[in-house]
Amino acid sequence: SIEVVEVRPHERHFGVYALKFEDGSERLATRNLTPGKRVYGERLVKWGGAEYREWNPYRSKLAAAIANGIKFVPIQEGTHILYLGAASGTTPSHMSDIVGERGLIYSVEFSPRVFREFMEKLVDQGRRNVVPILGDARFPYQYAHYVKGVDVAYIDVAQPAQAKILADNADYFLKPGGYVMLVIKAMSIDVTAPATETFKQEINTLKERGFEILETVHLEPYDTAHAMVVARKR
Ligand code: SAM
Repeated sequence: SIEVVEVRPHERHFGVYALKFEDGSERLATRNLTPGKRVYGERLVKWGGAEYREWNPYRSKLAAAIANGIKFVPIQEGTHILYLGAASGTTPSHMSDIVGERGLIYSVEFSPRVFREFMEKLVDQGRRNVVPILGDARFPYQYAHYVKGVDVAYIDVAQPAQAKILADNADYFLKPGGYVMLVIKAMSIDVTAPATETFKQEINTLKERGFEILETVHLEPYDTAHAMVVARKR
């Protein structure tokens, strides 16, 4: 496979790196918190005494948002995140790399089959900053005992009424001044077409629940049906 010729920090985002290949192409990566361990078959690259994991924007909507130039991602060293819709942990694993040992990713998933796969990977990797929770994001009281205040709440449950579910979770767990990140379906494939009704409704729900919308980024061509929204609790 083709060689990496440079690894450098991303100009804008903490804990995100650019891998540069000998053919001039570039890919996103994070620094592997559990060296030698892969999560979803991603390429591992050793460079300057550290190991990096390629971050595939076709597999992770957060990577797609970064590849498409999102300006502000509220995730840094030590950030505590509530992640709703963890699936088998692709995106949570990269957040885990970024926040490091002082950070925490509370990861909620409601499908027992998917959750089991997630758990098996976590045990194999020994990622200590990911807290897996088998629970339903629509009912935050189910896991209220396990989660302390978070700086960021992130949702990607691929269900209607995500904004309401997110705002309900924020009421329980988000610290004052905290941020939310929301993957919203129902953007048109045609970027010039007006936003759909669903999209407008979700944005309105966030505003009504006291959030200031900071940024919206389309995820095409990596994901043709979604956009990422970043908002802050007023
Ligand atoms: N965010 C993941 C990533 O990038 O690696 C992919 C998430 S996938 C699109 C959506 C996941 O949300 C599925 O695994 C599904 O089982 C889960 N899900 C759907 N509704 C949920 C709910 N009410 N509570 C918790 N998880 C839910």
